[in-house]
Amino acid sequence: MPHARPSRSSEVRFRTRVRRFLDDALTEDLRAAGRATIGTHSEIGACRIWHQRLHRQGWIAPAWPQAHGGTGWNATERLIFDQECAANDAPVLFAGGLRNVGPLLIALGSEAQKSRYLSPILSGDEFWCQGYSEAGAGSDLAALRTRAHRDGDEYLVNGTKIWTTGANHAEKMFALVRTDASGKPQHGITFLLIDMRSPGITTRPVQTIHGEAEFNEVHFEDVRVPVEDRVGAEDDGWSVAKQLMLYARASNTTCALLRRTLRRVQEMLVTAMPEARHSARNRLTDVELRLAVIERLEYDAASGQQDAGDRSQNASMMKLRATELHQQMTELLLELAGPDACRQWRSRDELASPGGAYASAKYFATRAASIYSGTSEVHRNILARVLID
Ligand SMILES: Cc1cc2nc3c(=O)[nH]c(=O)nc-3n(C[C@H](O)[C@H](O)[C@H](O)COP(=O)(O)OP(=O)(O)OC[C@H]3O[C@@H](n4cnc5c(N)ncnc54)[C@H](O)[C@@H]3O)c2cc1C
Repeated sequence: MPHARPSRSSEVRFRTRVRRFLDDALTEDLRAAGRATIGTHSEIGACRIWHQRLHRQGWIAPAWPQAHGGTGWNATERLIFDQECAANDAPVLFAGGLRNVGPLLIALGSEAQKSRYLSPILSGDEFWCQGYSEAGAGSDLAALRTRAHRDGDEYLVNGTKIWTTGANHAEKMFALVRTDASGKPQHGITFLLIDMRSPGITTRPVQTIHGEAEFNEVHFEDVRVPVEDRVGAEDDGWSVAKQLMLYARASNTTCALLRRTLRRVQEMLVTAMPEARHSARNRLTDVELRLAVIERLEYDAASGQQDAGDRSQNASMMKLRATELHQQMTELLLELAGPDACRQWRSRDELASPGGAYASAKYFATRAASIYSGTSEVHRNILARVLID
């Protein structure tokens, strides 16, 4: 049953309360880290500090059920909170635990897994990365070959994952591994929770075109994982991953992330050359309208106003629309920066202020949005299947 929408005056009171907290809790360092964000999360040190502050305030997991540490806010309050964090340049959290594995464990985890893992996700003591993709197993994920053999009460994991965001910072990984290769590719995959501090794991950061090394190659050599750290049944990890993908795809390119970029476009508009400013201003109105539509869809999803059958296609539609809009915003950034966009960034201070270095880094970083969490072509396939059925 969706929550009743709160009255305007209670919304205003809630917004004021959030603003007061942010005024105190967001130091200038944290705001600068928020402004300098070009990829999917802010600089990791700032992420940890901001995570812990939100946790102390009891506001780290607004979307979780209250019984597990959620805030009890309704969809409007969650939206207001996200809007205010964006408007005040709060760091973008490294949120694989909060957004993906946490909700999954609440839904499907054993009692032992909930009591072991949920609390450090909330406190920020354990950050989580996602170990799915491999060379030759991206869109065709069921082709994955990292193996796990049962050895008594443990699995022995061998293989290599690639494009693992934040593996060099994370304490934990949720991973898909192959436990049986005899049947259909989707059968024989198992979902494991792996400790990144285990012997046998090597992590190698991969440099990207925007100048950061956000993702990694992760090699496993005889890595031991207790059987109790398996989610769901052995060989049935595909259905576990399908459930988790719904959370991931709906929350990776969020309106809060788009709002942050929009603010930077607006800042650059002020200092741009008059011709560039004139041409960008008209398109900015279109961008703002499209953002309002996506925000509405995000609100409907958050308030449970979609039936379960629609959730998968809505997640695809939102991912697609948000990605296209985000990339459009970064094209505006480039235009507004003009020739200054040829400059490469050298320090995070440079990224935190409006200018060509930020514009080009953000432009390149946002190309990745049509690849991660399902490529745009894959999402179009999902939507096309709905139309055909
Ligand atoms: C910034 C970034 C962060 C990432 N983080 C993670 C992470 O943390 N963990 C993780 O596991 N993975 C991560 N990935 C990997 C990501 O999930 C894969 O890159 C993605 O699934 C695409 O797989 P691929 O790169 O192997 O490309 P491919 O699947 O080989 O696709 C190549 C091209 O073919 C197209 N294509 C493929 N299949 C079809 C089809 N059936 N119909 C039409 N077109 C098709 C694709 O759209 C694409 O254009 C990340 C990627 C990026 C860019």
